[in-house]
Amino acid sequence: MRKWTLDLTQDGWQNAAEADAVCDAIEAGELVAVPTETVYGLAADATRSSACAKIFAAKGRPQFNPLISHLPSLEACTEHGIFDEDALKLARAFWPGPLTLVVPKKPQSTICDLATAGLDTVALRVPAGPVMRFLAEKCGTPLAAPSANISGKVSTTTADAVTADLGASLSFVVDAGPCSVGIESTIVALVDGTPRLLRPGGIPRKDLETVLGRALIDASTPTKPDAPQAPGMLSSHYAPSAAVRLDARTVQDGEALLAFGPHRLPGADDAICEINLSPSSDLEEAAARLFAALRHLDTYGAEIICVQTIPMEGLGEAINDRLKRAAAPRPIPPS
Ligand code: AMP
Ligand code: MG
Repeated sequence: MRKWTLDLTQDGWQNAAEADAVCDAIEAGELVAVPTETVYGLAADATRSSACAKIFAAKGRPQFNPLISHLPSLEACTEHGIFDEDALKLARAFWPGPLTLVVPKKPQSTICDLATAGLDTVALRVPAGPVMRFLAEKCGTPLAAPSANISGKVSTTTADAVTADLGASLSFVVDAGPCSVGIESTIVALVDGTPRLLRPGGIPRKDLETVLGRALIDASTPTKPDAPQAPGMLSSHYAPSAAVRLDARTVQDGEALLAFGPHRLPGADDAICEINLSPSSDLEEAAARLFAALRHLDTYGAEIICVQTIPMEGLGEAINDRLKRAAAPRPIPPS
């Protein structure tokens, strides 16, 4: 695995020899880890099923769980998906940014069936993080990229965490520092005239509803038998090795503590290790730090990570969604 460390504040990183080498690797059907504003992505050419197959193998990801394709612009996305008025409104308001749109797939789209898990819809995103956008543009192909972590485990927001999980499967890791948003994209399906929230994420629900001028329907609300769901949204996901206990009012003996806000829980001083996601209760700061904090607390060997209550407003919906999945009962490994 080769590493390309780049400083986004410097002009000229796009012309670096490594930029060509990363594109060569993508063109050769290899896997590269690339930062976006949400989390690090495990990227491959979305038009080649042999390349996408490597993503599923490296992550241990179930193949019914489709991949999001990253493109440099809305214009490029319209080559692959059919955008209705609502989809166009959201794309224009929030792209580039942490929003994924699931739209009907155009018959002429070159995105492979493995990336869409054989569905007749496709998940598209124009990321704000410039590296993924730049590479998609430079390589001239949509980049399929789920989070760069072992399936079911905590997502990665730094290049070191990526290397620890997936180093052996990668041709390149591109290190552009920690991700600014830190939590995955919000996913909205615009397939049947009813915009649906498939996954809360980096764009808060209220901001989307303001642009749409109406409420988003939750994916779990069945209105039609064939209404789109988010396949692969498994109840246990984002899981550290330790068990996770939510809404802690006190810290028990031997627990690690994921704190939030200025209030100190009884027993906090005896926690095996403590990280406060945001002492000033800033949900954006908390989202940006969430996955790195879970990974860090996990290194202390506590059996339980207890989590202080985090409010549901704004990005709190996405943070609580991830924590709920991290706390869910884990699948029993085959014996
Ligand atoms: P990840 O790449 O792990 O952040 O997650 C991608 C998620 O996007 C999947 O788990 C699905 O829930 C969702 N997704 C991707 N493509 C589709 C699609 N065609 N229809 C519905 N949901 C999708
Ligand atoms: Mg993921």
